[in-house]
Amino acid sequence: MTMNQHALNVWLEISKQAYIHNLNFFRQLIGPDVELAAVVKSNAYGHGLEQIAAMASGADSFCVHALTEAQQLRQAGFSRDILILGPIPIEDLEQVIAGDFRMALFTRESAIRLAELAHAQQRTVRIHLKLETGTHRQGVDADGLDWFLDFLTQHPLVVAEGVYTHFANIEDTTDHDYAEVQLTNFKHAVERLRAAGINPSKCHAACSAATLVFPETHFNMVRLGISQYGLWSSKETYLSYRLEHPDASANLQPALSWKTRVSQLKQVPAGSYVGYGCTYQTTRSTRIAVLPVGYADGYDRRFSNQAHVLIGGNRAPVRGRICMNLTMVDVTDIPTVALGDEVVLLGRQGDQTVTAEHLANLAGTIHYEILTRINWDLPRLVVD
Ligand SMILES: *Cc1c(COP(=O)(O)O)cnc(C)c1O
Repeated sequence: MTMNQHALNVWLEISKQAYIHNLNFFRQLIGPDVELAAVVKSNAYGHGLEQIAAMASGADSFCVHALTEAQQLRQAGFSRDILILGPIPIEDLEQVIAGDFRMALFTRESAIRLAELAHAQQRTVRIHLKLETGTHRQGVDADGLDWFLDFLTQHPLVVAEGVYTHFANIEDTTDHDYAEVQLTNFKHAVERLRAAGINPSKCHAACSAATLVFPETHFNMVRLGISQYGLWSSKETYLSYRLEHPDASANLQPALSWKTRVSQLKQVPAGSYVGYGCTYQTTRSTRIAVLPVGYADGYDRRFSNQAHVLIGGNRAPVRGRICMNLTMVDVTDIPTVALGDEVVLLGRQGDQTVTAEHLANLAGTIHYEILTRINWDLPRLVVD
């Protein structure tokens, strides 16, 4: 631990043991010959980009969303391959070549500019052609493919190192019919590439859910996001996996805990209101603990009067509205609570757990959003 955690009001702890356990689990699952690309976009799903990269020696490469994330990894000394998945402004394409990054290619404009730059510098640039197969987000559709096949044939400095697609409906259902359709579309498109003499060495489609429940999608690379951090993509993914592997134990360990400390304790009489809007009124003499965390930190305002935090191994309910920087919880039934006590907002304490999935349910969203919106400026401490 690099920082004195007693000086911190709000912080995250990232378990190295849990993270490495998860990577090892996925290595076992995919085998030694499939490239394991750790998706570390959005500050490694809130876990801390550089902290995760430093623990990810079990991953072969990284995927990020933005050029700036790729550059941050390089500046921090990580020399492994980095695939930039998201759009890159045309004016910045030069930096892709300078950084020797891999980039997703899906627009003609970028292709043309890349070829100009590569030709002017007599350097190659590695692209992964993104194919549209049914998600209708980024990607080259079947009609647009011929243009790219001609283009790549004519511009050998733009090297088609990879070809890939992304599933629309794999974690939201136990029914994989739509994923099957996408997989078929993908295979057809890859055949068209090969027929045109373009033979990318990397072929990939799988996110976490597909990696877990749809082995046919592994090809020779998987893009592993949320599950490397120890979370199932969804309940449906968990169920599908367990149906296929009835004897395997649950093999993922969440790596992230989010913590704060009791900053004030007070006794308030029965009938008192707590917080903005007077949305909670005490029904008994109540001991309130004030916590120095709020929605500005990512502790969502929709947790108001709903969430629990863990103190002294017990659950303490949030009372009243979450404020920008403060939250009040009821510790009347946990008499041992003292000023400065550690509080778990997300994670485990004793035999109690608050999961990201649970908080997501309270806020009407998914755990991906809960994690990525934990304020990026909060310290992330790697613990064993
Ligand atoms: C974010 C992302 C992933 C990772 O998805 P998970 O569900 O977190 O595993 C994979 N591929 C692409 C294109 C992505 O944008």
